[in-house]
Amino acid sequence: MSWGLENLPYGVFSRNESEIPRVGVRYGDHVVDLAGALHDEVFATGSLNAFLSRGPAAWRDTRAVIQNKLSTDQTAVEPHLIPLDQVTLHLPIEVADYVDFYCSLEHASNLGRMFRPNEEPLKPNWRQLPVGYHGRAGTVVASGTSIVRPSGQRGAGLFGPSAKLDIEAEVGFVVGTPTALGDRAGRFEDHVFGVTLVNDWSARDIQAWEYVPLGPFLGKSFATSISPWITPLAALSQARVAGREQDPEPHDYLRRQERWGLDLSLEVAINGEVVSRPPYRDMYWTPDQMLAHMTVNGASLRTGDLYASGTVSGAEPGERGSLIELTWNGTEPLKLPDGSARAFLEDGDTVTITATAPGPGGAVITLGEVSGTVVPAR
Ligand code: CA
Repeated sequence: MSWGLENLPYGVFSRNESEIPRVGVRYGDHVVDLAGALHDEVFATGSLNAFLSRGPAAWRDTRAVIQNKLSTDQTAVEPHLIPLDQVTLHLPIEVADYVDFYCSLEHASNLGRMFRPNEEPLKPNWRQLPVGYHGRAGTVVASGTSIVRPSGQRGAGLFGPSAKLDIEAEVGFVVGTPTALGDRAGRFEDHVFGVTLVNDWSARDIQAWEYVPLGPFLGKSFATSISPWITPLAALSQARVAGREQDPEPHDYLRRQERWGLDLSLEVAINGEVVSRPPYRDMYWTPDQMLAHMTVNGASLRTGDLYASGTVSGAEPGERGSLIELTWNGTEPLKLPDGSARAFLEDGDTVTITATAPGPGGAVITLGEVSGTVVPAR
């Protein structure tokens, strides 16, 4: 079955408006109410954070207990299985800090060519460190949240609703285990609980005007959507790959200790039509390297930290994870099956990002989709 025992992603749900949201795992077309099934109040706290803070041994034990109950003790679990169509899904984590990286060689090269046409596409630092910036944790929203078209400065003397509203298809990593201020993070799998899909909505006209010299600001901070389901790393053991070869050899603190590249196949759809299939496995910097870099200066991690990969773009034109690349800054509009064309997003457009990964014994691990619909500027 799809969404079987090998997957079991975690989310937060409620059955009605008066209920404090509860933690569950998705199993088939049901959600397992963990507070009820496991008799543990950590799952009745409104977010995954309290559970995540227990650390990797607890994550492993809990997953084993759930798998065991679902496979051997169906009658005991039955009362705690709720059909998905009877629940509302919420933001699964209380987001602590949010960092966004820029780890695709192809995406960074494409954007460099467009934003700085007379220079080398990649800055000299790009192959030396995973470039990133701190984003706005408070505007990370659950899949399904409407995205209000942002307004802002779009050039000298120009103000108004963004005319270049775009997406960025990304993979996000959720931190469970914190670090103390001054310390560096240890092993990736001791800190990071799981993976979510991210749409880093981007207003390209606002971004292009504001980003010099300090980087993205209001062109990004209005909304970032994530999947309602966090896929635990334990479900992705068959998807682990070595990660792309790197030249030059990274600094010691960035050396890969384990295989933490991930063979995730993404799909981006606009109004139900697939427009791109970005391959995550080809990313230049892997998530363990992002974690090492983010904490090498002693910046502490908090439970609920979210960091994202940056736009996932592959080498082929049909593998680009943003419209600015797919349409080459609007000069080559996409044709949609309804006969319309898109340079950038129009009001009413719905963008959905999905992904799959290889699972055990030929099974497919499906990640929770992230979707959002653009509504007019206020
Ligand atoms: Ca981004």
